[in-house]
Amino acid sequence: MSKYNLHYAGLKEGIHEFDYLLNQDFFDMFEHPIVQGAHVLIHLTVNKSATLVVLNIKAAGTVHVQCHRCLEEFEMSLNITKTIIVKTSGEDKEVDDDNIILADNAHDIHLAQHFYDLVSLAIPIKVTHPDNGCNEETLRTLEKYMVKNENTNDPRWDILKNVSNN
Ligand SMILES: [Zn+2]
Repeated sequence: MSKYNLHYAGLKEGIHEFDYLLNQDFFDMFEHPIVQGAHVLIHLTVNKSATLVVLNIKAAGTVHVQCHRCLEEFEMSLNITKTIIVKTSGEDKEVDDDNIILADNAHDIHLAQHFYDLVSLAIPIKVTHPDNGCNEETLRTLEKYMVKNENTNDPRWDILKNVSNN
């Protein structure tokens, strides 16, 4: 995790740029890895001034997800930007905006959780293929299977059968 610590105290005032690769090893460091396969490049621009550190995060790449509709797995593209303003002093309770955080201590900002959250929030709860790009054949097979399943497992059908027998 330590390579995701930004040692801002050691940076000169001005602009600094960093690159990170978030692969599956990164997501596996968390208790609940949200993806099974990832290749996300982070480009971080740090603008340090006397009183603030501004983080400009650009994340681009793909995550391996399962389509909620046709159940096929696919690589979902991500392209996200987020600006986080880091206060390097003050009280935690003064920070109530999602985009403003307090530095973790007097020297470092732990970026890993912010990167993780950024990618997590970009993945919808019900992820589906973009542009209705589902596999039509798989959808048809699934529909057939579901209809068949309903007919055989739904006890209401048995009741109806009994009614028609009388
Ligand atoms: Zn799909």
